[in-house]
Amino acid sequence: MLHAHTDFACRLAALLGLLCPLLGSAATTVGLPQPRLVPGGIAVIAVGPSSAAAPEVFQDGHRVLVVDADSQWQAIVGLPLSLEPGEQFVEVRRGGSDKEKRSLVIESKPYATQALTVEPKHVDLSKKDLARYNKESKRLAELFSNFTAKPPPTLAFGAPVDGLRSSSFGLRRVFNGQSRNPHTGMDIAAATGTPVAAAAAGIVIEASNYFFNGNTVIIDHGQGLISLYCHLSRINVSAGQHMSQGQNLGLVGATGRVTGPHLHFSVMLNHAWVDPELFLPAASNTE
Ligand SMILES: [Zn+2]
Repeated sequence: MLHAHTDFACRLAALLGLLCPLLGSAATTVGLPQPRLVPGGIAVIAVGPSSAAAPEVFQDGHRVLVVDADSQWQAIVGLPLSLEPGEQFVEVRRGGSDKEKRSLVIESKPYATQALTVEPKHVDLSKKDLARYNKESKRLAELFSNFTAKPPPTLAFGAPVDGLRSSSFGLRRVFNGQSRNPHTGMDIAAATGTPVAAAAAGIVIEASNYFFNGNTVIIDHGQGLISLYCHLSRINVSAGQHMSQGQNLGLVGATGRVTGPHLHFSVMLNHAWVDPELFLPAASNTE
């Protein structure tokens, strides 16, 4: 009789979308990224047992990815490169007016400066190119503000190409003697024509040519986790396409603002570019 009662409670919990605490939840293989509490890094914060409904978490007003890992809801918080070191907060909302501030202590990480020489047209933009760039920036801002509710099936990325990974994420960049935005991704050395694989499953939200990024594919993995692949010589997918992990999306190239062929690979969390290395398996070939 007791057993039947427990079974009923479990079914009721399942109906409510809750995990039955009496049965426990199976160990997950969500593959959490490496935490690193620096600008451009990631914080992993336990925000409550996954037997309860998932809370909504926000960083600087942007919704944060929350996944179930080992019976806990874990908030996977992207820490923007522009974040000030010191105490910072994320907000945890559990419905109604229940808002909790969680404190994080961000360490400083000085990023070096990198000087690069590229074609002058990619530094001093013509009126026409500037208009194009402004239009593209607006388009990207729209794409990046999407928050799809379905969480990614895994956070353990596969390398999009084999090759020497430069540790150039976050570098302040000077192109032809002029200061520009920091480097928001990782460059992987590979020859033109090398196949590029989706780092994880997701939906293609952009497959198009951009002034700086060249031929670009953007994949939405769910809940604000987005990956971007740039300078491709060829795009093999189109917007709206569902991708499985490792599926080919195009070929390495040297389109856009580049010094030579390579793959530029970026990862975004809650609207913040984070170091892609934190999602990838350890490489023996990091520069
Ligand atoms: Zn790059």
